[in-house]
Order: sequence, then structure tokens, then C-alpha cells
Amino acid sequence: MLTKAPRGTKDITPKDSYKWTYLENKFREICDLFGYEEMRTPIFEHTELFKRSVGDTTDIVQKEMYSFQDKGERDITLKPEGTAGAVRAFIENKLYADAQPTKLFYITPCFRYERPQAGRQRQFHQFGIEAIGSDNPSIDAEVIALAVQFFTELGLKDLAVSINSVGCPVCRETYNKKLREYLDQKSSVLCDTCNERKEKNPMRVIDCKNPTCQTNLQDVPFMIDHICDDCKTHFAKLKEYLVEMDINFVVDKTIVRGLDYYKKTAFEIISNDIGAQSTVCGGGRYDGLIEQIGGPKGTSGIGFALGVERLLLTLENNDIQIENPHSTDIFIVTIGDAAKTKSFKLLKELRGNHISADNDHLDRSVKAQFKYSDKINAKFTIVIGDDELENDSATLKNMKTSEQKVVKLSELVKELKNVL
Ligand code: ATP
Ligand code: MG
Repeated sequence: MLTKAPRGTKDITPKDSYKWTYLENKFREICDLFGYEEMRTPIFEHTELFKRSVGDTTDIVQKEMYSFQDKGERDITLKPEGTAGAVRAFIENKLYADAQPTKLFYITPCFRYERPQAGRQRQFHQFGIEAIGSDNPSIDAEVIALAVQFFTELGLKDLAVSINSVGCPVCRETYNKKLREYLDQKSSVLCDTCNERKEKNPMRVIDCKNPTCQTNLQDVPFMIDHICDDCKTHFAKLKEYLVEMDINFVVDKTIVRGLDYYKKTAFEIISNDIGAQSTVCGGGRYDGLIEQIGGPKGTSGIGFALGVERLLLTLENNDIQIENPHSTDIFIVTIGDAAKTKSFKLLKELRGNHISADNDHLDRSVKAQFKYSDKINAKFTIVIGDDELENDSATLKNMKTSEQKVVKLSELVKELKNVL
């Protein structure tokens, strides 16, 4: 128990943490190119926020949240996703008073009580963006383009961008009526969840993973075939912009974001390269959300979230290696106590000049120190012994070529800057 992390969580050790740093840096770099700035919000929020924003009828709220009462008897939930917090912070900090749109990105751990399996954990991590304050299809195109550039620069070439329109409150109402009529006829062959959703949120039945439901829903009417002119124009414009950017996409009628305030564009990005066919990124427009949780009326928003663990799996499946950038420039081998003491001055000077350097902390023999220097792949080894101390010099050994030379300590940094 003491030496086992809770089920569904994983340590990220130095064997992998450099990959995370690389992905985070790359994501920050791409966000910056597109003008998205970081929003950091608390790990926990009031439970009510997620109920309202993620939605009472979703799996997340119904089954997956880590909720508890704190010592002040507040209902608290560890964030299961990033949008709710970002949007709450947008309202609370009155970002709507600045020039719009507000373009935000976040990097955050998320918590969902799910059955752990490959690419599914209880604590996982998301990168996401939110563009708030524009209902123009050009921002939809921008959000998708940002995700595509991020994945492409990581080396994932065979991407499938699937887009759909989930309509708006106007066309949704007519469609929901049609859909309910259809579902009423099927009610005896559908699962309980689907029958329940039929009343509250019928479009969500399309998302049902139950194989029986999937077989029986093959001729289900889709929202996109019933959207109004306004939604049609929005979708057409989005496609036009994507074509202009040479972004390959397909229209997938089955993508749904089944809440009332989700509107128009919904999309997913799947990596088609060899290996797992999993959704790494999902996003969509949420035009009613901000108003729903108490923000200014009519504030639109669109965003996406991508799972970092799934992204790493996808990269692995595609044989895309991330190199560990860490290397030790210098290891200092010391012979005797006086030399060890002297090595600290040298270490300070080297590190102060941004040359990475290390010395022995285990009282190893000279031979063992050289072995260790080899093991950590130091580029050069510096030897300080009695002779060197007397002459204020050190022996510098190139670990690749085994070449050695004696260098004055006062000249060492200059010499190293030449060879490193
Ligand atoms: P799924 O259908 O796989 O459960 P989801 O619809 O719940 O996904 P979203 O809420 O859209 O996923 O979250 C965005 C991304 O976060 C997903 O595409 C996925 O990459 C990642 N993700 C979601 N849940 C988990 C989890 N439990 N563990 C790891 N990654 C996850
Ligand atoms: Mg899920």
C-alpha cells in the first residue's frame, strides 16, 4: 500500500518526464504562434460548476467525478476537464472587458473515476485551448488549425480531422422531435441509458457504445441533415477556410456534443497511422455555456482538449522518438580530499557559465569515478589530483576520442566553450 500509487494513476519518472517537457514546450510554442495565452485555474472547483457546465446527463457528472466535502462542508470536485474552470475564470476575472476574442490555453491534470486501461487513467492530463467571444466560423477554423499544426510538428502525418455540425437551439428543437419519434419506435431494443437520454438529451444516443444500440440505430436521423440556414452557412464557411489551409477533413455525422448549449461545430482528431485508432483530441463550439454559468449574455466560445497520455501512446505507436535533451558536459574526477574541496570552486564556475557539471558524492575510487562519468555520458572528464593542485591546472579528457591535455584552471572555461 505505502509503495503503490492509487489505481489509475501513474508516476512520470525521469525516464519519461523529458517527453512531457518536450510536448508542453511544443504546445506552448504553437499556442504562442496563434496568439493563445496561458490560463491556470485551481485543481478543484465547486461541484456545481461541473454539473452546470459539463452537464448533468453526461457520464462525467453521473459516474466519473472525484467529489467530496471539504472541512468547511463545501461540495468540491477535482477537475474532470479544463473548460469549466477556464470559462469560470474568464467570467470571474472579467476578461470579456478586454479586446475580444479572448484566446486561452491550459495544461492541466484531470481526474475521472473510470476503469483504468491503456490510454485511460483516473488522473490524466490535458492540453486545451478556448477561444471566447467570437461566433465567427473563422475562429473554428483557427482552433482546428492550431491542433493540426501541433500534431503535424510532432511528426504525426496521417491525421483524420472529422467535423460535424450539431445545429443550434432553433434547428435542434425540430430535429429532437423527429429523433424522439424515431427513438419511440425503437425503445424496446435500446438500452436503459438510451431510453433515459431520449427524454432529456436525445442526440446523445448516437454516442452510445452499446453494440445492440449501435446496430439498431443505423438509420437514425442525424442533426447535420436537418440544420437551419444559419448553421449551414457557418459550416460551409468553416469548410472553405479548412480547404484554404489544405487541412484534410471528413464530415462525420456521428460526432455529437449532446448538451443544449453546444452549437454548430463539433470535431475530433484521430491518428490513422499504424496502431491505435483512438481519438486524441476532441472539441467544439459551446455558445450557450458562458451565459449558463452567469457570464455576459450571448458570449460564444469554442475549444478543444487533447489527452497527453493518449498522445504519447500515439507517438509510440508511430515510432516517433522524443530525444532526451539532457547531457552532462563535464564530470570532475578528484583524487584526494584537497582536490575534492578544490572541485567545488570549479563546479561553481562551470555551472555559473552554464556548462553542466557533476562530481562524485559516493567516495568512489578514481577508476569507479571514470566508470561513472562514462555511464552518465559526460562529454569531458576533468581530473584533479596533487600535481594538478600544485600547478593550478587540470587534465581534460575527451570521453569520445580519449584525447587528453593539461589546461590551466583559469583557462578552463574558455577552452571548454571552444570545444563544447
Ligand atoms: P472517451 O470517449 O475516450 O472516454 P471523452 O469523450 O470522455 O473520451 P473528452 O472529455 O472529450 O474525452 O476529453 C478529451 C480527451 O481527453 C480525449 O480525447 C482523450 O484523449 C483524453 N481522455 C479522456 N478521458 C481520459 C482518461 N480517463 N484517461 C486518459 N485520457 C483521457
Ligand atoms: Mg470518457
